[in-house]
Amino acid sequence: MYELKPLRYSENSLEPYISSKTVDIHYNKHAKNYLNKLNNILNELNYDFSMPLNELVVNIEIFPIEKRDDVLFNAGGVLNHDLYFSNISPNRNIYPTGQFLEAIDKQFGSFENFKNEFIKKANILTGSGYTFLVLTRDNKLEIINTTNQETPYLYGLKPIMTIDLWEHAYYLDYQNRRSDYINNFFEIIDFEVVGKLYEENIK
Ligand code: MN
Repeated sequence: MYELKPLRYSENSLEPYISSKTVDIHYNKHAKNYLNKLNNILNELNYDFSMPLNELVVNIEIFPIEKRDDVLFNAGGVLNHDLYFSNISPNRNIYPTGQFLEAIDKQFGSFENFKNEFIKKANILTGSGYTFLVLTRDNKLEIINTTNQETPYLYGLKPIMTIDLWEHAYYLDYQNRRSDYINNFFEIIDFEVVGKLYEENIK
């Protein structure tokens, strides 16, 4: 069976940017629901849970065609929430450093430019989905949007940073003020985590 990464901070520690109630419902109900559904479908299919989830989604053809959408949706739900909840924290690592900062400066001109581009991209997403910073096959950084629970792994891209833009991620705290939630994401982003993922995933 697959599992969600445990939360490494207390549910109230992201306040005032994200409330304890939102973290509780989002992690314990929404994210766990994707996990439970995924495990249930895979058990029904007698899957042996041998692949890491990011490999499972690119090997989706091992499953019957009528089950693939369900597997992908829920596997994406688990992968995307694992990254989202691990790339935010109360630790105030809100500026990139080291090799990752060099890559940001080189490709976006400056951290401020990168931040502005990420915010702009998040603001133009329509419907439910995510904005991601991904690494391409040739080690370039790109900012992309995906809808629903689509994971960048499907396109051979490695996600290293994400903001959840489903209403359940912010509605209790921000209602229609989604852009405030997006701006405040940069108060709880943990660039130590993102920087580590960058270094682990460049070839
Ligand atoms: Mn979510």
